[in-house]
Amino acid sequence: MIPYTTEPLTDFSNEENRQAYEVALKKVQSEIGQDYPLIVGGERITTEDKIVSYNPAKKSEVVGRVSKANKEIAEKAMQVADATFKTWSKVKPEVRADILFKAAAITKRRRHEMSAWMTLEAGKPWVEADADTAEAIDFLEYYGRQMLALKDGKPVQSRPGEYNKFGYIPLGVGVVISPWNFPFAIMAGTTVAAVVTGNTVLLKPASTTPVIAYKFMEILEEAGLPAGVVNYIPGPGAEVGDYLVDHPRTRFVSFTGSRDVGLRINQRAAVQNEGQIWIKRVIAEMGGKDTIVVDKEADLELAAQSIVKSAFGFSGQKCSACSRAVIVEDVYDQVLDRVVELTKELTVGDPTDHNNFMATVIDEAAFKKVTSYFEVANSEGRIVAGGTADDSVGYFVQPTVVADVAPDARVMQEEIFGPIVAISKAKDFNEALDIANNTEYGLTGAVISTNRDHLEKAREEFFVGNLYFNRGCTGAIVGYQPFGGYNMSGTCSKAGGPDFLTLHMQSKSVSETL
Ligand code: NAD
Repeated sequence: MIPYTTEPLTDFSNEENRQAYEVALKKVQSEIGQDYPLIVGGERITTEDKIVSYNPAKKSEVVGRVSKANKEIAEKAMQVADATFKTWSKVKPEVRADILFKAAAITKRRRHEMSAWMTLEAGKPWVEADADTAEAIDFLEYYGRQMLALKDGKPVQSRPGEYNKFGYIPLGVGVVISPWNFPFAIMAGTTVAAVVTGNTVLLKPASTTPVIAYKFMEILEEAGLPAGVVNYIPGPGAEVGDYLVDHPRTRFVSFTGSRDVGLRINQRAAVQNEGQIWIKRVIAEMGGKDTIVVDKEADLELAAQSIVKSAFGFSGQKCSACSRAVIVEDVYDQVLDRVVELTKELTVGDPTDHNNFMATVIDEAAFKKVTSYFEVANSEGRIVAGGTADDSVGYFVQPTVVADVAPDARVMQEEIFGPIVAISKAKDFNEALDIANNTEYGLTGAVISTNRDHLEKAREEFFVGNLYFNRGCTGAIVGYQPFGGYNMSGTCSKAGGPDFLTLHMQSKSVSETL
């Protein structure tokens, strides 16, 4: 088998590639506005009540209307998943892995189409949507191979007269709850990690991006995944989410999303409900407040470029986005001026236009939340770029830089999840690192420095799950930079890493006397 390597990103400077994406956009545009059912045990279920998915860049445009699960349907899906577990858990790991490889091949063939759905449903500019699809392919290819590596367990010692084996078995029914910001990659990655390890899944995608998840269900079916292994049940988090998290037959929950929902799930899952005979496992990957530290001995152009790209890519709606920068005072003005200059050059507009670097935030609630921080920013610092927004057509927020902010200011502490970066001054590198660590999150961070001692100090003391030197703090690659953070950023499950699959299994020791 070909060893795993990451799927290359599309080069949109190439005319042919641009044309191919335009074709995909046209195809998807001709398909929007349709109705989608739920899928439980392969059966299509249509409900009266619908989740309406809108284009955030053209808020009057309906991308799709998706049936909405409720408690009754969630219960039915649980029974199907529970019954299917008995057969799916017995399917050989090689066969399960093959389905992932097949799904990867189908996704590669439909690559631009899948990305185009995200351009319309999530407001993802071309480059961001393309990276999302590439990451979904990576998860399929990587977890398939990881399962093959784990299928025979791991070596243990045997004494004379004894034969010991150590292997892994699946857990049971998993509830997979995914966010809208990587509506393909994270949704698909967390789903197939559970599936390839022999579990069955109740998939509840985010309510703002259910159509792309439906498209992935079609790919899984085409790849040969048996009915009932993944059950597609979008629905209100508070109703369907709580019901399934509490359910006594839920064996594990794989959640990616905000801090508050993650904590709620963790707490509820800890309660033993009637008929429940296990401790539920919770994988929770949550928010971030990620910092780029700029040293005085540093490539200052690289620093400014890294801050701007990490802060404003996909409108700052990445858990890894740079939402705070800490710059040592000797170079503060120089870096800040360049950040402002670069920010003002960014193009903001409809994501279907390839020339736009940035588009919208996801919906009205996000627009209200993000723009409410303009006032906070004004009172806590100086808005030196952006600070304006327009929701007349779509939810457009201009990239915003807030300078001269105190380390404990709200804009330096709270996850805004939009295109706002707060900038603080530090007297030296040690203080910069202290400020960087002064948050309840611990997801990503970057240090721009040419001082080896400072980099080594950061390697030890910068308390984040994903630390980068001399580059931005977004863009972890499956199989290269396993992803996940500390503290309120979650359980540090490291998606796309060598330990991720084992979180979905339990190990078994068998010792035979010879
Ligand atoms: P969210 O927490 O609002 O929603 C995530 C999912 O949880 C959605 O499917 C939602 O419907 C569901 N949900 C809501 N209430 C629930 C409940 N009571 N029970 C069960 N499920 C419920 O997050 P979001 O707005 O979709 O995503 C943005 C957040 O996700 C940000 O905080 C971001 O940092 C985080 N995120 C983290 C990572 C990571 O790997 N650490 C990756 C992507 C996004």
